[in-house]
Amino acid sequence: MKRFRVELIAATPNPQQCIFAAMHQDYFEGFVASERQQWPEEAKAGEICVKRLLAGERGHYGPLEHPQITLNVGWFPHSVMQQARTHRVGVSFDVQSMRYTGERISRAANGELELEEVFYLRPVGSYSDRQGKKYDYTPEERAKDLALCRTAAERYREMLAAGFAEEHARGILPFDYRQHFVVSFSLRAFLHFMDLRAKLDAQQEIRELCDLLWPHFQTWAPEIALWYEKSRLHKARLAP
Ligand SMILES: Cc1cc2nc3c(=O)[nH]c(=O)nc-3n(C[C@H](O)[C@H](O)[C@H](O)COP(=O)(O)OP(=O)(O)OC[C@H]3O[C@@H](n4cnc5c(N)ncnc54)[C@H](O)[C@@H]3O)c2cc1C
Repeated sequence: MKRFRVELIAATPNPQQCIFAAMHQDYFEGFVASERQQWPEEAKAGEICVKRLLAGERGHYGPLEHPQITLNVGWFPHSVMQQARTHRVGVSFDVQSMRYTGERISRAANGELELEEVFYLRPVGSYSDRQGKKYDYTPEERAKDLALCRTAAERYREMLAAGFAEEHARGILPFDYRQHFVVSFSLRAFLHFMDLRAKLDAQQEIRELCDLLWPHFQTWAPEIALWYEKSRLHKARLAP
């Protein structure tokens, strides 16, 4: 069962018009906000921005920094959060710290929540690492790891009951406990994130995050999404 989830919290309305206005102000004598009635409608604005800013590797990414999108990301393993947070420019995060939240781990130890609701283990299957080494993750191996998660959850519960601080007790948890976070991107930073994390040598789970982020972008800025899909998505074409 897939638990990974991404929900929209808020986004700049009419992001492509917003980019258009920023671009237009660069070469327009007047005050661009006063000319709102003359702005092209949202889809047309997107097409114009693609043509004048992006097509043919023009690389005029600056105006793409104005619109913002905020998403809630849920049930991803700690490793994904850690990787995502390496992107600092035009991105902001608020993350469950496990200094204030850990009740769910104790509840899993009590059997009130499934263990896999709070810990992430890869599905059974065949895998390879970045050097191409192949291996199988069998049901037997996975069962051993689940048992380890159970033991850790029980010890965590015991530590909290004995008065330990959450920040102390979290240290004994398996690395990939699940964590929720809120992330905001400028539209440019969103595409930069996709450049780096949707490419095929990125870790499987963060690529799955990209798969869930992408439909939100397509709904938000469809014409730019279309350009990005054709010219960059999964192609590891890294912008500076
Ligand atoms: C597949 C993959 C594997 C990785 N593995 C590891 C790993 O094993 N260990 C590890 O520590 N990290 C790892 N990273 C993280 C990587 O090294 C970068 O720290 C991370 O991708 C953030 O870089 P960014 O270009 O996205 O920066 P962002 O913070 O998103 O910045 C965006 C852009 O702004 C510019 N910029 C930002 N800061 C500066 C600056 N200080 N000076 C000049 N220009 C700047 C750059 O052009 C940069 O590309 C990995 C990343 C990927 C995609």
